[in-house]
Amino acid sequence: ATEQTALITLFGATGDLASRKLYPALFNLYKKGEIKEHFALIGTGRREWDDDKFRSVVSDSVKGAADSDQQVSDFASHFYYKSHDVTNPEHYKVLKGVADQLDAKYDLKGNRIFYISLAPRFFSLVANNLKQQNVFSDNGFNRLIIEKPFGHDFESAQELNDSLSSAFDEDQVFRIDHYLGKEMVQNIAALRFGNPMIESVWNNKFIDNVQVTLAENMGVGERAGYYDTSGALRDMVQNHIMQILSLLAMDEPNKYKDVEIRAQKVKALQSLHIYDEDEVAKNFVRGQYGANGDQKDYRHEDNVPEDSNTETFVAGKLEFQNNRWAGVPFYVRTGKLLADKFARIDVVFKKPALDDFARANGTAPQLLPSVLTIKIEPDSGFEMQLNKKHVGQGYTTDSFKFTHDLTDSEMKEVPLPYERLINDAMKGDHTNFASWAEVAQAWKFVDQIEKFWNSKKADFPNYTPGTMGPKAAEELLTRSGRNWAFRA
Ligand code: NAD
Repeated sequence: ATEQTALITLFGATGDLASRKLYPALFNLYKKGEIKEHFALIGTGRREWDDDKFRSVVSDSVKGAADSDQQVSDFASHFYYKSHDVTNPEHYKVLKGVADQLDAKYDLKGNRIFYISLAPRFFSLVANNLKQQNVFSDNGFNRLIIEKPFGHDFESAQELNDSLSSAFDEDQVFRIDHYLGKEMVQNIAALRFGNPMIESVWNNKFIDNVQVTLAENMGVGERAGYYDTSGALRDMVQNHIMQILSLLAMDEPNKYKDVEIRAQKVKALQSLHIYDEDEVAKNFVRGQYGANGDQKDYRHEDNVPEDSNTETFVAGKLEFQNNRWAGVPFYVRTGKLLADKFARIDVVFKKPALDDFARANGTAPQLLPSVLTIKIEPDSGFEMQLNKKHVGQGYTTDSFKFTHDLTDSEMKEVPLPYERLINDAMKGDHTNFASWAEVAQAWKFVDQIEKFWNSKKADFPNYTPGTMGPKAAEELLTRSGRNWAFRA
């Protein structure tokens, strides 16, 4: 690998995300030679740590993946700590001083990445202080990586974006959606555009419906305080599911390059039909988990109000109004405490208009739809269900599956999502980041649902832990004679 040259200034370096995800990601990049000599990180946080304390925290978070102690200490030697109060402009001047020193020490060519991993209320404050206190370099690049959530609704997202844009241009901003860093999400494009056999049937002539399921089998746990202000729709649909949908629905970009890909994703999202109240009522289902054995119901979890109307489950039907997709429902569902933890995409193809084998036999139709499944996790791979002749006399049919799972050795090579995304940001590649136009469109869609839900008291709890959500989520499909491809 060619070594990337950059100084990362991390806001929130003492936080949970930093030690669970960011340091292990950077360590993998270090092990693979993507970052090496010309790399340094300034960690900031409220705590009064020094470099040694910081390095020992970083070391602890990566040593499980290390080849040797020496490797860990070499890596950690690139980490520096400054305690920092985001509200104090003077502190940014201190950061600038450290940045300039490290730039000289590691020959960083003025390449700077500012990574904001703080509570969202600080996002624009930090970005604007960086600009006003001139922490930027004037050679090299100055880029912003920003965590989720990007706003709470369209209005707040736009406010945040306007504010960020007074400090950073859109092409300097990298909005994290870690689903875009997942191997099998990135495989959507290869499967479609690498196989004319697939892409030529990727439309409403052959596809009956598309399903995206991101299921969790745990409750809210320690994130309850945050989760209760968000809910499944904002936490999972507005960002991850919308990104997956845009990759499934988009037209082929002229070039497989970030600018062209983003343009196609935006175009697809702009064709998304935005619902009015009646349509929301018909096409979206919310759920909240009840109790089951030792598992408390959501309203009795710690830090959740007893009258909480927050949904821990959502299922919905979306429609892209363009010639490729008109008439094809895109079903999505996600939630907490479901039957299992997994993420998958099922593309359900049309059946023949007539089941001729059944007609000839005078039996009930038995052809199943062909289903192409992209397994995102925990298993990563593809499945294709097709019909075949049932072995034996006569002529009836049953189905079989082609399966391809990534091998264990391939799985070991799969970069961590954050590893891939940080590397992309260092390279200046926006392919796997959400653009403002995409985020904006996703919020406009989601806001309509929130607005309708807020106007009505929910009938919660309405699903049992360990199931695939409320009954209405099944009915969303069965009312048009369809079914979820994955059922518990
Ligand atoms: P955290 O609460 O564990 O850490 C917060 C960090 O902010 C700490 O380093 C703290 O020192 C710093 N901080 C708080 N107030 C400050 C101030 N006034 N001045 C300077 N520093 C201050 O949070 P986290 O879980 O690491 O989350 C960080 C970001 O990542 C958030 O935007 C969150 O939404 C996002 N995120 C986290 C997760 C996760 O799994 N933890 C998942 C997705 C997104």
